[in-house]
Amino acid sequence: MTIGAAAANTFPSLERALKHHFGYDQFRLGQRQVIEEVLKNRDVLVVMPTGGGKSLCYQLPALLKIGLTVVVSPLIALMQDQVDSLRDNGIAATFLNSTLKLEEVRSREAALRAGRIKLLYVAPERLVSPGFLQLLRDLSQTLGIAAFAIDEAHCVSEWGHDFRPEYRQLSTVRRTFPQVPILALTATATERVRQDILQQLWLNDPLLHVSSFNRHNLFYEVRPKQRQSYLELLKQVRETDGAGIIYCLSRKRVDELAARLQQDGIATLPYHAGLSDVDRAENQRRFIRDDVRLMVATLAFGMGINKPDVRFVIHYDIPRNLESYYQESGRSGRDGEPAHCTLFYSYADVATVEYLIGQKPDEQEQRIARQQLRQMIDYAESTVCRRRIQLGYFGEILPEPCGHCDNCLSPPPIEDWTIEAQKFLSCVARCRERFGAGHIIDVLRGAKKQRLLELKHNELSTYGIGKDRSVDEWRLLSRSLLHQGLLEETTDGYPVLKLNAGSWQVLRKQISVQIAIPERLQQVVEVTPPEDSLEVVQLLERLRSLRKRLADEQAVPPYVVFAESALRQMAQQRPQTPDAFARISGVGSRKLEQYGQVFTEEIRRFCQENDLPEDSASTSSFAPATRKRQSLGDTHLQTLALHHEGLSVPDIIERRQLRYSTVISHFERLLLNGHEVDLDRLVSPERQSAIRAAIAAVDSPSATAIRNHLGLIYDYPEIRLVLASLTQSGKEAATQSH
Ligand code: ADP
Ligand code: ZN
Repeated sequence: MTIGAAAANTFPSLERALKHHFGYDQFRLGQRQVIEEVLKNRDVLVVMPTGGGKSLCYQLPALLKIGLTVVVSPLIALMQDQVDSLRDNGIAATFLNSTLKLEEVRSREAALRAGRIKLLYVAPERLVSPGFLQLLRDLSQTLGIAAFAIDEAHCVSEWGHDFRPEYRQLSTVRRTFPQVPILALTATATERVRQDILQQLWLNDPLLHVSSFNRHNLFYEVRPKQRQSYLELLKQVRETDGAGIIYCLSRKRVDELAARLQQDGIATLPYHAGLSDVDRAENQRRFIRDDVRLMVATLAFGMGINKPDVRFVIHYDIPRNLESYYQESGRSGRDGEPAHCTLFYSYADVATVEYLIGQKPDEQEQRIARQQLRQMIDYAESTVCRRRIQLGYFGEILPEPCGHCDNCLSPPPIEDWTIEAQKFLSCVARCRERFGAGHIIDVLRGAKKQRLLELKHNELSTYGIGKDRSVDEWRLLSRSLLHQGLLEETTDGYPVLKLNAGSWQVLRKQISVQIAIPERLQQVVEVTPPEDSLEVVQLLERLRSLRKRLADEQAVPPYVVFAESALRQMAQQRPQTPDAFARISGVGSRKLEQYGQVFTEEIRRFCQENDLPEDSASTSSFAPATRKRQSLGDTHLQTLALHHEGLSVPDIIERRQLRYSTVISHFERLLLNGHEVDLDRLVSPERQSAIRAAIAAVDSPSATAIRNHLGLIYDYPEIRLVLASLTQSGKEAATQSH
């Protein structure tokens, strides 16, 4: 028996309960509506993308309702972390699975019977076992069962990507406890799987909540994969703060890439099915606990990864299909903070995958796989908004281009290549439609290969008429013609180019051919949010170390202690009193009690060392107005004195034993406060004028916008110094005119 809805009145508002238990100020889109229905004991199917905040939809009701909430999860490895996270918020949660010893199971069952547990995580096979069902029956007589939450509900469907036969038996639960509401949760994007979930779990007049699958915080880009791609990848890894996952197609490639990254000094671990279970679990654990930054993995890695602060996902090889790509790249940025998704794409990889598909025994399977690969190629080669294509694949229409992908930021230029197309197609015709692109290009470029000469193709009228274009350019054209349906390719073993009706239209000059020229994007778009001052960056670093230490002491992953967003807020607001600390989003009653003191002490120490006002909780360190008001400390004046003595920045660093970033932040503040600083000695006049020009050119001159405008050869410190000097002269000009 369950008594539910009335309990909602325990708290005057759901928002208060949210802050008290989880420390958050507001619900995310959809959470409140779902929670209200759950409190009314209605069945619900929640479809939210990864990171959307599904867990809260059953966790908060579990605390507000009478009785036990049972959570079914297929991911045994994850239960421990989930339960740790809840306990760290002071919530009575536990789990039962096959990793426990018999005594542990007994004592946990006793706690359940005594009503000391609000949330219980179990694996599906245990849930439907006769012994456990009996326990639940007993509990439902005494304490009540509030709800069943079925996580990763797509596992019931054979159409999903993670079918688990055990999930099929979950309807037993509905039959045994018809009155208890069921809450099914999934990140599955396809309609077919959603229908399966509704049926298989016997959901009764459920509320169907489907969130948008647009993850605003993720930046999407595709880069051409070429010889120097490894260097690009290395650069991206070096310039991005935080954890990342790199996916490769095979174990061999995983091992090679991981070894190379390790050689280049990046803390990296591999993950694939060739490792022992123990090694895999250990590598995963070290990644989640932030002992290493990078995981290079095959697709075997991911499903059980609940690490919310992955900052980038790189696909070094082409993914199998768009849905997998969406799910895999979506493992980044679950905490809602900015994250970066890069796909390295090459036609050679496509050929490899095509070969692998050809090895599949079943023809139907081959057909599906080819179609999926084609969609993936379309995505990679597309010149329109990437997010539009992704969401369109899931039936969601994005009204405007997203503005947060490579194609939106720098649309590739379109060129008219009609003449080149005519040359290419007529060469295909002259070679009697019996050769692949490689040979056609050889003929066009006048190659002297033996086979070509044997075939007497050097005597064709198209021989050597395409020397003005590179092999890569001809390849691009050939692909684009295929892609646009103006040429065909056989799929039985050797790919041979064939003309079609479209080709003849091109040859007869009836249609023109437009080609999007991919820009070799060399710039890495910054992932760190722009406005952070050096002080924020430094304090954030310190708070992260503190978090890591506390997490290690308790043997939990760092994100269990605090999410990245909470640390960032702390670094920005520098709270030093319990009141101020409690206002940080992510600090609930329990976290305040447990961590308030250590964190505020660390913040206070940092403020003392850097001559920052102690307790600046109510002022934001961002606004230039408040920055100017901040008083200068002795340490700044010492730096200024040395500057006046003629010392360079490196000299000052040496003399004062300070860090580079510290000295720069001193100068930044000295400039803002109107002290006499010889900027020419800090930033060369040429660079100053380039930076000034960029400041004038961008709409809102944040350091990141300016740097992106200038290119990465300019650094943040010099940009900040010039910005500070301008803010100062603007102020002077204003005072003089009065
Ligand atoms: P999902 O299961 O949908 O992938 P989670 O439930 O793990 O997502 O939530 C993702 C992250 O968002 C977690 O770090 C969680 O604590 C955080 N979160 C959830 N709801 C909120 C909220 N209302 N405000 C702030 N953060 C939230
Ligand atoms: Zn876009």
